[in-house]
Amino acid sequence: MQNPHLKIDLAKVEANTKYVVDLAAQAGIEIMGVTKAVTANLAVARAMLAGGVSGLADSRLENLEHLRNGLELTNHPLMLLRIPMLSEVEEVVLLAEISLNSELKVIKALNQAALQLGVKHEIILMVDLGDRREGAMVSQVLPLVREIDKLTAIKLRGLGTNFACFGGVLPTTENMELLANLQQEIREHFNLDLTVISGGNSSSLPRLKKQGLPAHITELRVGETILLGSNVVTGESFFGTKQDAFLLGAEIIELKSKPAQPAGPRGPNAFGEETTIHQQGLRQRAILGIGRQDIAVGGITPILSGVELVGGSSDHLIIDVTESKRKLEVGDTIYFRLDYGGLLRAMTSEYVAVTYQQN
Ligand SMILES: *Cc1c(COP(=O)(O)O)cnc(C)c1O
Repeated sequence: MQNPHLKIDLAKVEANTKYVVDLAAQAGIEIMGVTKAVTANLAVARAMLAGGVSGLADSRLENLEHLRNGLELTNHPLMLLRIPMLSEVEEVVLLAEISLNSELKVIKALNQAALQLGVKHEIILMVDLGDRREGAMVSQVLPLVREIDKLTAIKLRGLGTNFACFGGVLPTTENMELLANLQQEIREHFNLDLTVISGGNSSSLPRLKKQGLPAHITELRVGETILLGSNVVTGESFFGTKQDAFLLGAEIIELKSKPAQPAGPRGPNAFGEETTIHQQGLRQRAILGIGRQDIAVGGITPILSGVELVGGSSDHLIIDVTESKRKLEVGDTIYFRLDYGGLLRAMTSEYVAVTYQQN
């Protein structure tokens, strides 16, 4: 086994997807599977498709290209999540059937690119309902739609919004009804049917499950809850899903009894931080062959009980194993759960191998 490695249980990814897809389907909502946290890993994307997502979405064109080249995608569109750069409109039109947009200048350039290539490109117009990341302000939506309506190679597929991405704003009846009202107004003023309301990400799922979402929502774009089984609103697990589809394994390269407290005059560490260690006395300490180049130290949690993460530098991770019930040795692999940031970093690191759980 190559170390460090990320072990992916594809059956769990598929089961999580199916759970989310079925939950949404009861409310007439389709799920786009978001692959950005796994750098569009093809096996994970296939598991999402097998679980029933209606399409795949990613924020980066390199990832969409990877999906486009690696999968048979006859009935499943690819969606670009990050609003496009003006400098990449040709690739957007080539690689994605759908993109999320908020800038008229870019939408016009997409139209130009689509005309040149002789294709149609669908867009979802993003509306900022308070989270303050991308999206047109509500008052600007109708004027924008008037301009978009003139572009012959662009099809306005619908309206979309984001929650809990930047400002941490959560979906409420009020902010989601704003989208319904806009949709209604657009239908009245223009000859557009706007079939899609793309109403958010994983942060909309707890509400969907508890009290339902407003009836006009037709689509959610979901990554985190499918991959990690998390309830992103409470930080706990999302009931009905598995939390261990992804496990990070790293190998013990030193195991010694050492005083917990550093000795000698102290300054900041290699990352400019002052470290404080709360333990005292002699402790059983292990060093793992993985570091901050590969993982976010705050984004991983050891699964073996009694193991505590102490800290890390670029290439070393220090854990305290004094309370471990299992006897550990140099050469053993220690496994961690990951949060979204932890997963993203580990998948992006070239030094972390990807392996698959054999079921
Ligand atoms: C990342 C992203 C998502 C998916 O978010 P999750 O929290 O992983 O479900 C949805 N929409 C947009 C625009 C995104 O950038």
